[in-house]
Amino acid sequence: MIEYGQEDRQEISLKKAEKFRQYALDYLDAKKEVLTGFQLADNYAGQKERIKTALGASEREWQDWKWQLANRISSVEMLEKIFPLTLTQKKDFTTIQSKFRWAFTPYFASLMDPVDERCPVRKQMLPDIREMELTGVTDFSGEEYSSPVDNLVRWYPDRVAVHVTNVCAGFCRHCLRRRKIGEVDQATSADNLEEILQYLRDNREIRDVLLTGGDPLTFHTGWLDRILSALDDIEHIEIKRIGSRAPIVLPQRVDEELCEMLSRHHPLYINIQVNHPREITADSARALDLISRAGIPIHNQSVLLRGINDSAVIIKALNHELLKVRVRPYYLYHCQGTIGIEHFRTPVETGIEILENLRGFTTGLAVPNYIITPSGLGKTPLAPEYQISSGEGFVLLRNWEGIVYRYDNPGRSGEE
Ligand SMILES: *Cc1c(COP(=O)(O)O)cnc(C)c1O
Ligand code: SF4
Repeated sequence: MIEYGQEDRQEISLKKAEKFRQYALDYLDAKKEVLTGFQLADNYAGQKERIKTALGASEREWQDWKWQLANRISSVEMLEKIFPLTLTQKKDFTTIQSKFRWAFTPYFASLMDPVDERCPVRKQMLPDIREMELTGVTDFSGEEYSSPVDNLVRWYPDRVAVHVTNVCAGFCRHCLRRRKIGEVDQATSADNLEEILQYLRDNREIRDVLLTGGDPLTFHTGWLDRILSALDDIEHIEIKRIGSRAPIVLPQRVDEELCEMLSRHHPLYINIQVNHPREITADSARALDLISRAGIPIHNQSVLLRGINDSAVIIKALNHELLKVRVRPYYLYHCQGTIGIEHFRTPVETGIEILENLRGFTTGLAVPNYIITPSGLGKTPLAPEYQISSGEGFVLLRNWEGIVYRYDNPGRSGEE
């Protein structure tokens, strides 16, 4: 313990406060480079009008999630109506389409910069010829060795993930499950779903079921209601979770009717995926607010992507934007060696450095777990090291700023 004299206290406090203030000011300075969705609201509104005109859509159609899904931008012909494309791009995008399909809602297109290829929203959805290098493995996460029943993935003692569809509102270029995204929209069949439900009924230790995809919110409300009701009927299932990017890529999907239905299936949690602060807009904020008001806690799972969000400043700004719309950052996934996504990968250290720059510098609410999911082995957390060493009766630790200190360790009691 450090002992300070009475007269030093004021001076020390002032010095420390000044140092902390400087950390915060340095961040605010760096953050000027990172624009948020709210700051870009005028650009988005202009883009929206341009895209509506190009597609001949009315405002009513634009606000209709079924119109958004049915009119996903999914061909060079459609894309060139809204973005200028070079001949090479046209050729490349067509080539990629035959191997890894691409599509995204007109809404999400309105968040993309029409000319700047570095736009972090655009990069998540527009194909890149480097995808065709085909490095990486198709089933990196080893899901195919972890499915006691088709479309049910079991990595853990008490919980499973169920893939209810392969449809997404937008097909992220970095998707770890791209092998499942396939060529055509396909929901898991009724027979397969019945098999899955039977597995869940037969295994009383499963207390947590994660519905994922694809995107379960691309289903009609009635169909999702039936699946959730079937899960409610299984007594040992304590909580249900839905993994969905719809509030971000297709916020029109979230309406009173959906939220009323969801609120009848508590305890229910929703996990979303936001990778850059530009994705949080007035529209997605409205969708997230409706979900929260239905009593559903929302957590975010970002993917760490090279050239998109691989810096502490962007991730911090993102997590602050999320907390402002009552979403808790939960996971930051390391981008793994799935086929065709090598160009998005960062070294493992990048994520650890980002976490170091979050912890203490901002609230623990804004610090996600950094995760690798090696094939079939579940999620492995990676974190900066705060324990430097240990000895008899003490541990040597460092705080978030790197100040090293010795901490008296009482040792384990009752072991002698
Ligand atoms: C991510 C995942 C889960 C859930 O993991 P949590 O750490 O509980 O959020 C469960 N099963 C599978 C197959 C998963 O990929
Ligand atoms: S929303 Fe999820 S499942 Fe769908 S493409 Fe994106 S990462 Fe893959």
